[in-house]
Amino acid sequence: MKAAAPLSFINDSHQVRTLFPFEKYSQCIILVDENTKAHCLPLLLNANEILAEARVVEIVSGEVNKNLTTCDNVWQQLFEWQIDRDALLINLGGGVISDMGGFIASLYKRGIDFVNIPTTLLAMVDATVGGKIGIDFHDIKNGIGLFQQPVYIFIYAEFLNTLPHTEFLSGYAEVVKHALITEDATYWNEVKQIQPTATLPSKDTIQQIIQKSIAIKQSITHADYKETGMRKVLNLGHTIGHAIESFALKNNQPIPHGYAVAWGIIAELYLAQNVIDFPEAQRLEIEKYLLNIYRNQFDLQFQYADLIPFLKNDKKNIQHQLSFTLLQQMGNPEYNIACNEQDVKKAVHYLGEIL
Ligand code: NAD
Repeated sequence: MKAAAPLSFINDSHQVRTLFPFEKYSQCIILVDENTKAHCLPLLLNANEILAEARVVEIVSGEVNKNLTTCDNVWQQLFEWQIDRDALLINLGGGVISDMGGFIASLYKRGIDFVNIPTTLLAMVDATVGGKIGIDFHDIKNGIGLFQQPVYIFIYAEFLNTLPHTEFLSGYAEVVKHALITEDATYWNEVKQIQPTATLPSKDTIQQIIQKSIAIKQSITHADYKETGMRKVLNLGHTIGHAIESFALKNNQPIPHGYAVAWGIIAELYLAQNVIDFPEAQRLEIEKYLLNIYRNQFDLQFQYADLIPFLKNDKKNIQHQLSFTLLQQMGNPEYNIACNEQDVKKAVHYLGEIL
């Protein structure tokens, strides 16, 4: 079992300086993309004189760049600057930056420490917690990676003020997922009252959902760090969701991760109703809530045949059989449920019809 990374919620960027000993590192390097450089980096640099002297590596934003070529460029830069093994990489960005920055740091000279400062809701409640890091490999989402924890995580909700609303909604899908897998449905009953479609929820609501979601993810990943068992419950919606996301990426029509997850949840609830009798009334309640937020506003159409190559390559399959995490009851997910292709096909078809 691996302890969770230390994590602090801050409400003033100056707290970064007091909570973490940046001075113990030979150098700090901050990894950003063009958006986090413009919107988030100034807040961080103002907060800390050590960070003000840090070198900054900028990559081009977007899932299409979460690949070996980008890692190669960053590693080249680090070698050019002769960064040693006592340096620290600070990942300032969304899930692309934290996944890829963690991967870059963990392999550079056999591994340097890294800190995550997530700047999207998705990265705050999900990507940054739990120690999974990696990159996409050709068409395969997160095909190459490892488990490695950052040495510290700072959660600063202020960053969300500059986040495009579609990106906020992308992260919110993971909040909904956390609510659905949490015992006794109390979190779901709170979440279903939130209507984030057009505007951000209140500051208090945002703080609460971030804290609750992180606590849920931490407790699950703490109990099963390497995903040999119950961590798989976090994959709800992700088998079909990842296949849609991978297909979209392959077609140069990338869609936000959370949209794919929300659609994946809708399809996998339909599958759950057919395969393990998830109650229809609850399925329709969740579906209505998700569809209201996650309409297909992208020019993306897909059929089962488009998704099958990705579904067959899913890391969660067991002995070549499609395997899912499905809800048995609200708050009661079951994992390693083998499903036949006919049932999965029906679920994908159903999703295509209602989107
Ligand atoms: P992202 O990192 O691409 O960020 C989304 C967009 O928002 C980018 O254009 C980015 O530049 C911009 N941005 C980020 N912060 C901003 C801010 N504060 N203000 C303005 N713009 C800002 O995407 P994401 O949704 O954060 O993360 C998606 C990635 O996370 C995927 O690659 C997914 O596989 C990964 N992920 C990993 C895990 C895990 O456990 N490791 C879990 C879930 C998702």
